[in-house]
Amino acid sequence: AKADGRRMACYFDPRMDHRARERYSLQLDLRAGIPNEELRVYYQPLATIEGEVFGFEALVRWQHPKYGLLAPETFISTAEQNGLIIEIGEWVLRQACREAALWANPLQISVNLSPVQFRNGDFPDFLQSVLSNTGLAPQRLELEITEGVLINDTSRALSILRRLKSLKVKVAMDDFGTGFSSLSSLQSFPFDKIKIDRSFVAGVDSNPQSAAIVRAVIALGNGLDIPVIAEGVETESEHDFLKREGCREVQGYLIGRPKPIASYSGLTQAAHVL
Ligand code: C2E
Ligand code: CA
Ligand code: CA
Ligand code: CA
Repeated sequence: AKADGRRMACYFDPRMDHRARERYSLQLDLRAGIPNEELRVYYQPLATIEGEVFGFEALVRWQHPKYGLLAPETFISTAEQNGLIIEIGEWVLRQACREAALWANPLQISVNLSPVQFRNGDFPDFLQSVLSNTGLAPQRLELEITEGVLINDTSRALSILRRLKSLKVKVAMDDFGTGFSSLSSLQSFPFDKIKIDRSFVAGVDSNPQSAAIVRAVIALGNGLDIPVIAEGVETESEHDFLKREGCREVQGYLIGRPKPIASYSGLTQAAHVL
């Protein structure tokens, strides 16, 4: 009885209850917020190690009517649990492709794909319709997936990936090194890019463990002939390390923060031309 009492006490922890309620009400807001056009796409530059911008990663934000601009970490994981991520992901993909199709310069556009969205049966069909409706050249689109998609039901995941490749889009392995099956995933599917997670890049110039891991991933990519991009590059000294080790692409605050498309005036001029 005592143990039960404790469990109940824990279950009804007023703080937990409060947080759960908050999460729930935020998701209700989100459900309404998507059709209310409260989501935004921010774009962060992807650059060569020499500093030439070759594309942008689309990163979702939520302009909440009361709480202001919310980062994905405040709503994505709950949305993955309740399935709302499918609507969010579809909106982001459509919006990013629509906008990128208007850019004066046909740069790459990278879009994150949640494992939930990926496993949702008709994603390749959805993608195909977005490509044909927006007119975006599929070669310009790169989908960023985490190795998590390959863990369960690998053969089904592989067949979806092959369908995506047959549409001529590129597929990057995101957050490389943070999961458990990175190496076998690389063996089972020809990824077009490896993205080294920010957690390894931060402090690469001061932390010997991070340095060893990043060095190894760059060597791996070069050995497999898969381009490697380092995410979360914030300082010149991190950049110098990456350059020295043979990393050829970078993304991070040093190059540019995620921003609304309107802040890249050179890119959006095409909208006037068309
Ligand atoms: P991610 O895919 O690993 O994206 C990179 C994150 O690192 C972004 O955070 C970006 O703003 C941040 N970042 C880039 N460079 C730096 C840097 O130099 N320093 C620091 N401190 N951070 C940097 P953000 O935009 O908050 O997104 C967080 C995560 O939310 C993303 O991680 C991605 O997993 C998820 N996400 C964002 N947009 C979408 C989306 O449209 N769909 C899905 N499924 N997930 C998304
Ligand atoms: Ca990403
Ligand atoms: Ca990451
Ligand atoms: Ca991620």
